[in-house]
Amino acid sequence: FFWVVTGKKNGLTVLVTLQPVMNIEKGMSMNTFYGVNPPLSSDKSVKNSQPLGIFTKSQVNHATQGFQRVHEFILQDQSAKLLPRERVCNCLKKRIDKTKERDVKYNESRKKAHWSNVQRCGSVWTCPVCAKQITEKRRSELSQAVFNWRKHHQGFMLLLTLTFSHSSFESLRSLMERQKKAYKIFLETTKVKEILRKMGVKHKIRSFEVTYGQNGWHPHFHILMFTDHFFTEYDLTDTLTQLWIKACLKAGLSAPSMRHGLDLRDGTYADQYVSKWGLEHEMTKGHTKKGRNGSFTPFDLLQGSMIEAEFNGRSFKSLYQEYGVSTKGARQLVWSRGLKALLGIEEKTDEELAEETEQDAITMRTVDDFAFSLLCHSQKRHEFLRCLERDWENGCFGSGEAEQLLIVLVEAEIKRLGG
Ligand SMILES: [Zn+2]
Repeated sequence: FFWVVTGKKNGLTVLVTLQPVMNIEKGMSMNTFYGVNPPLSSDKSVKNSQPLGIFTKSQVNHATQGFQRVHEFILQDQSAKLLPRERVCNCLKKRIDKTKERDVKYNESRKKAHWSNVQRCGSVWTCPVCAKQITEKRRSELSQAVFNWRKHHQGFMLLLTLTFSHSSFESLRSLMERQKKAYKIFLETTKVKEILRKMGVKHKIRSFEVTYGQNGWHPHFHILMFTDHFFTEYDLTDTLTQLWIKACLKAGLSAPSMRHGLDLRDGTYADQYVSKWGLEHEMTKGHTKKGRNGSFTPFDLLQGSMIEAEFNGRSFKSLYQEYGVSTKGARQLVWSRGLKALLGIEEKTDEELAEETEQDAITMRTVDDFAFSLLCHSQKRHEFLRCLERDWENGCFGSGEAEQLLIVLVEAEIKRLGG
C-alpha cells in the first residue's frame, strides 16, 4: 500500500509514491533530490535507455531503501522560506555580536566543525537544526530519568498513549486546544485519579506529537508514567479507556474507539519509546516501521513542500505552515512538578540547549559577510563545514576543499554580476 502524492520539480509534475518511496520520473531523478544513493553504474545504462515514466527494476529495488531526509540545513532554509516571520529565519545566519565576523569552530574530540557567533532559534517545532540538537539532549534526559527512577527509587515504568478521532476538516490549532482540554478533564476525573493511584503512578512526563494522515492532523500524547509497583491491574484499562472517551466528548472531540483511544503498555515499551524518542524528525517514512504507515511527520511535510507535494487535496506547503503557526509556544515535553529535581536532571530551556556551545572547540577560521552570504544563497553552509573538517583531517587546512569551494562560489558570483 502506498500513498501517492504529486509534486513539481523544475516545472515538471512528478508522481511520488511514499512508503516505500518510488517515483515515476519525467526526465529528472527524484532520487537525487531525496539523496537516495544513485543506482549502480551497471543500472545506469539501463535507466537511461528507459522511456520516461516507466519503472525499471533497478529503480524499484533501490527505492525500497526509502527516501532519505535532506540535510537539516537545507530543510531549515525551506522552513524559513515557508515561515518568513519566525525566528528560524535567523537561525545559524544572523550574528550574535554584530561587531565580529562569523567563525567556524572545531571540536577535536568529536571531529566536528560548527558555526559560531550566529544566533540559534531554539525552535523544536520549526527548526530542523535546533530540533535535532535539542531532541538529542532531551532524549538523554528521558533515559537518565527512567534509569534513575528504577535504580534509586526502585520504581517501574508504564507508557500511556492517548489519541482521539479527527477528520481532515479540522484545523490543527482547534484540535490541539480540545486535546489539551480533554487531557485536563481526564486527569481531574475522580475515578481516573483513583485508578492511577491504584496503579501506583507517582509522576508523569507528557510528550506531544503530531503527524498528518488520511484523516487529517493527528495530535497525540504519550505519557511516561513512573510507578511504585509492577503493573498487574490490566482489568482497569477498559474503565480508563471509557473515562478517556468521556473526557474527549466533554472537550468537544470526536470519541475515539475502545480499541484505539487509549493504549497502556508496560516498561519494556516505555524503554523502547524513550530510546527512539524524537528520532522521527530525522527519519523519513521509508525508514519507519509499520503502524505509522500513511502518516507524515512535520518534517516529511516540510521536505515534500520542496517539490510542491500535495495530499488530501492540500499542499504540503500550506500544511507545514499551518503546523508551524499552530505549534508555536506548544510544549513538547511536560514533566510533573519536582520530577526533574527528584531524578537529578538539570532544568534547561530549549534555547539553552540549542545555544550550548561545545566545550574545547577551537576557532578554525572566520568567514566574512560576503563569503557567508554566498554560502547561504548557494545552500552550502553545511558543505563548507564538512570541507573544513576534511581539510583539517588531511592536513591541508587553509588550502584545501573549503578554499576551493569559496573560490568557485566567488567566481560564479563575479560571472553573475558581470552578466
Ligand atoms: Zn534553529
